[in-house]
Amino acid sequence: MKIDLTGRTAVITGGSRGLGEAMAKALAEAGAWIALVARDTQKLAEVRDAIAKSGGVAEFFVGDVTSEADVARVAGEVKQRFGAPQILVNNAGINIRKNLVDYTLEEFRSVMDASLTSTFLMCRAFVPGMKGTGYGRVINMSSIMGHVSLPGRTAYSSAKTALLGLTRALALELAADAITVNCLSPGPFATEMNTVVMNNPELNAQFLAAVPAGRWGDAGEIGSLACYLCSEAAGFITGTDILIDGGWTAH
Ligand code: NAD
Repeated sequence: MKIDLTGRTAVITGGSRGLGEAMAKALAEAGAWIALVARDTQKLAEVRDAIAKSGGVAEFFVGDVTSEADVARVAGEVKQRFGAPQILVNNAGINIRKNLVDYTLEEFRSVMDASLTSTFLMCRAFVPGMKGTGYGRVINMSSIMGHVSLPGRTAYSSAKTALLGLTRALALELAADAITVNCLSPGPFATEMNTVVMNNPELNAQFLAAVPAGRWGDAGEIGSLACYLCSEAAGFITGTDILIDGGWTAH
């Protein structure tokens, strides 16, 4: 299916690498203008330049999406550059893997803030600009860890499960405005977030044994799914979650 997002602007948090970078490139290829939001100027510039080299349009905006002040500033900068974006991908997130009793409160909050609070702040800043346009798309990055879990994932699973609730409630608030709100729940994808697993042969084998497809996901597969959710064809999909996990949660 040919997906044409010409005339749309997509804001992507955590767009400097990994799944965010892949979604940015896929949406740009479909014709959307891309506003990358993250903290690493050099990596953001590399992604912006790569998109431009492929004939796309992108700009980056440096900010911490857990900071209310940064989100307000970035929202202003994005609107000045591109007008009001109609696509928002809340992709930024972090994972700290350790048992609950070893967590500091600061660490727990940082995991919750990176996925959940950032999504609240970004939606509050960008959703009003989608209203009245007859089209809007919000994609929130949950995880299989929002559905099942593993030891050492209390904060991460809490944040990713909470995103499913935020998504359902916001979808109901926005459905009449033709703005869809959905989650993606990836299984294991070969990104920097997982190098600690991939570089440990025992852990790597454990992970792969849990994936019926027998492999790590490819970031491009998330890009294609994000494009589909942003297409006109997906206008009736809202308030839900799409697992993309090679079968991890099927058993
Ligand atoms: P990654 O660590 O490679 O990239 C995360 C991105 O988020 C980076 O660009 C980082 O700079 C940005 N980020 C984090 N905190 C931020 C903050 N406070 N402000 C601005 N930017 C911030 O991770 P990834 O694997 O690409 O994962 C992307 C999303 O997908 C995350 O939400 C993650 O939880 C989720 N996810 C990943 C996997 C996986 O296997 N890789 C599986 C399930 C869900």
